[in-house]
Amino acid sequence: MSKRALITGASRGIGAAIAERLALAGHRVILNYRGNHAAAEALHARITEAGGQAELACFDVADADASTRAMQALIEKDPEPISIVVNNAGITADGPFPGLTPDAWTRVTRTSLDGFFNVTQPLVMPMVRKRWGRIINITSISGLIGHRGQTNYSAAKAGLIGATRSLAQELAKRNITVNAIAPGLIETDMIKDLDTAMLKKLVPMQRLGRPSEVAELVHFLASDNAAYITGQVITIGGGLG
Ligand code: NDP
Repeated sequence: MSKRALITGASRGIGAAIAERLALAGHRVILNYRGNHAAAEALHARITEAGGQAELACFDVADADASTRAMQALIEKDPEPISIVVNNAGITADGPFPGLTPDAWTRVTRTSLDGFFNVTQPLVMPMVRKRWGRIINITSISGLIGHRGQTNYSAAKAGLIGATRSLAQELAKRNITVNAIAPGLIETDMIKDLDTAMLKKLVPMQRLGRPSEVAELVHFLASDNAAYITGQVITIGGGLG
């Protein structure tokens, strides 16, 4: 069954792969991104040329007012509720804790954690009325086990895990599942400046993950086949974590 699906941070990397996978499954995807118009438009073209349905939604999920305006517009423009939401937008601003600036703390936590609230909260009542929903939060192994130099990022991602578990309990009776995916090291722009040869050695499978591998898991969790899975954090890391 075709659903309206919103993917945040969909212009590149994991979010773009998720959007392509959900569009391939027949869902009408809404591609949120922050500013990279060229990447978002290229993805939109790829999806529509392949016969899928997509629309762009450029807004900063960390900005509560901008998110409220954008979500209201998306809700009002179509009577069909957005019943799949993938909270994927995330950034890093790594550094040792003694040197971590308030700005690096706030930017990272606002994007992953406040972004989850800003986007998901307006969608929940329409999902409740429809008695069907899938909320999928992209967290990180860093939010489960921590990582040196990522106090801000780990805190944001661990917070997202807590939100996932509580909201899952609230919404379980309404046929709405809430799950988190914790990727390990996935080959995207986010890690392009890191030493990938060294990173691969940390992974038991000795390779980085592909965005499409995360997208397959999202596709499954968004399907009817995953109806009895909720409140879970599923790690995808080649043995890491
Ligand atoms: P990328 O840096 O490749 O892409 C980030 C995406 O998020 C872009 O589409 C970007 O939009 C968007 N974005 C960033 N900030 C905002 C914002 N405030 N509002 C809206 N969109 C925003 O990241 P990845 O694909 O690697 O990461 C995706 C998710 O997966 C993140 O949550 C990340 O923390 C998580 N993750 C990634 C891992 C990895 O190894 N890559 C490992 C574990 C978790 P634009 O193009 O406009 O800038």
